[in-house]
Amino acid sequence: MALAVSALRRQFPLLTGEKGIVYLDNAATTQKPRAVLDAMDLFYATSNANVHRGMHILAERATIAYEGARQTVQRFLGARALEEIIFTKSTTEAINLVARSWGRKNLKRGDCVLLSLLEHHSNIVPWLMLKEEIGIEILWIGIDDQGHLNMQDLERALRGKRVKLLALTGQSNVLGVRPNLPSIIRRAHGKGALVLVDAAQLIGHHAVDVAGLDCDFLAFSGHKLYGPTGIGVLYGKRHILEDMPPFLGGGMMISEVKRDHFVPGDPPQRFEAGTPPIAEAVGLAAAIAWLKTLKQKEIEAHERRLLGVALKSLSRVKGLTVLGPKKMGEISGCISFTVEGVHPHDLTEILGHEGICLRAGHHCTQSLHERLGIAASTRLSVALYNTEEEILAVAPALERAIKLLKK
Ligand code: PMP
Repeated sequence: MALAVSALRRQFPLLTGEKGIVYLDNAATTQKPRAVLDAMDLFYATSNANVHRGMHILAERATIAYEGARQTVQRFLGARALEEIIFTKSTTEAINLVARSWGRKNLKRGDCVLLSLLEHHSNIVPWLMLKEEIGIEILWIGIDDQGHLNMQDLERALRGKRVKLLALTGQSNVLGVRPNLPSIIRRAHGKGALVLVDAAQLIGHHAVDVAGLDCDFLAFSGHKLYGPTGIGVLYGKRHILEDMPPFLGGGMMISEVKRDHFVPGDPPQRFEAGTPPIAEAVGLAAAIAWLKTLKQKEIEAHERRLLGVALKSLSRVKGLTVLGPKKMGEISGCISFTVEGVHPHDLTEILGHEGICLRAGHHCTQSLHERLGIAASTRLSVALYNTEEEILAVAPALERAIKLLKK
């Protein structure tokens, strides 16, 4: 069966309310279905209170809703234990948590963190900060022109035995390529390195099973999964989390505070200082529950078809070069491109006036753009609610814009 896209679109107030908007900036953030908005509304209307503290009925309702959301995420990711799910603000915060907590405790001068040239700045800068702070080394896995990882770089780096962590994207937010995680994780573990997966893009397009993957950490953001902003998740293997010091200090993350010392609480609370994003966790759980009513295979087939249409129609635009693989099945989520003699910002601005929402720039991947020999690109990214008609509107709009800009 094909995905019932028209019926699905009607569940997104922004898509039905804003006539003339063609939203193809889903890699930046997705739109939210009514189910998510309603769940957050209902929470505030019926259950709002702070969690874990207070003995009253509303505190109990809020805590049940918040901890229920944790259970939904645990099942969604296939994590073995509830304690392995930490709510954060975002993917960015989740990766910073690992760097500042696990990294500061376990890494010393000369130890290596291995990254790939596909990485988003969120999975580069926290490690560069540790490089400045404690003198760790950053090693890089290169890519070919299509964005496929250079496996020899991986092997070479791992052979050196100084790599303590491989931090790798599950899906590029520019080229749409997906590294072969199971095989890479096995190789890294074989040489004693832990693996962190940045699943910010992967999570919205493919099923993720952390126990099956055997990754040590995995991070994602709710807002790229049809959920709200302000909520992210860090999955971590239980025994590793138990051995990590707190990231932020404050309320809720302690078991005891005296004037001269404190004793941290157990995970996950140890890593959730202060009032957490409660309604946002409820919204994320609603997004996951809503997604679960759909068939993953149908979503993937639909998005693959959309990207196929995009690839074909964009390739016909004169002067346009598609970045990354040209073979369907090798890309997920997005296609990026450059147009000879035209700056991506000018292009997207003109398309924006027509209601077509694309994104231009380096997409927080300057190292990748440098490797590709360009400063910026334009990105078209899809979600399950996009239609072929929307995709087909892009190429003619680009042609009009190019004509205007080259006049
Ligand atoms: N990693 C990747 C691959 C991303 O695409 C993004 C968002 N563009 C992030 C990390 C950061 O996500 P957030 O801004 O939600 O923290």
